[in-house]
Amino acid sequence: MSIDMHCHLDLYPDPFKVAEECKRRGTYVLSVTTTPKAWDGTCKLADGSRRIRTALGLHPQLAHQRSNELELFDTLLPKTKYVGEIGLDGGKGFKEHWDVQLKVLRHMLSSVNHVGGRIMTIHSRGAASAVLEEIKGISGIPMLHWFTGTSTQLRKAIDQGCWFSVGPAMLCTKKGREAVSMIPKSRILTETDGPFAKFKSGVLMPWDSAIATKLISEVWGCPQEIATEILKDNLRNLANTK
Ligand code: MN
Repeated sequence: MSIDMHCHLDLYPDPFKVAEECKRRGTYVLSVTTTPKAWDGTCKLADGSRRIRTALGLHPQLAHQRSNELELFDTLLPKTKYVGEIGLDGGKGFKEHWDVQLKVLRHMLSSVNHVGGRIMTIHSRGAASAVLEEIKGISGIPMLHWFTGTSTQLRKAIDQGCWFSVGPAMLCTKKGREAVSMIPKSRILTETDGPFAKFKSGVLMPWDSAIATKLISEVWGCPQEIATEILKDNLRNLANTK
């Protein structure tokens, strides 16, 4: 049993095969989209499984090309409990589109707020402080995925009630493990960010989130089985919100 709270199921070379394998293994997957137009096709991957849920998103790295899909975002929003991938990216190649990224994120957050909140998986590369500022006061649960901010920003995020999803790639770094040691045990979940994220040069599959569980158990200093139980409880608590 493993939990992948941030995975781009639709972007694997053979998405239906990967989805089938998730169903066979009983992997819990939050299948995130990068554009509203991908919603319908990505939902089909979840057919027949209660363990695969689809999130409606517009990735900050695509904001400048896809802002015309915000209307579709609003149309689809009532259909889902999960939003993502959304956020801001202050990294090289994307910082120059900052204004449109902000406009797109603000639009989506205001829509989320308007419908009473959603569970949101959020990208914040090179933009942790700005993301924390934007999500302030928005109803729902923000889940920061692959958080790479400073420890001060992390503390602020914890104080603001954020959850965190961490994957094998993040846990490979000392900074990532230090972050995990600071995050309350009740607000952490595993992810892979596959097929983008890699681990030991291989593309991560959703069920490889078990690697993250093992690495988290090492940070916590407990057996892997105990960590698995804690993470399952967390997922249950998250899914039962509102
Ligand atoms: Mn992602």
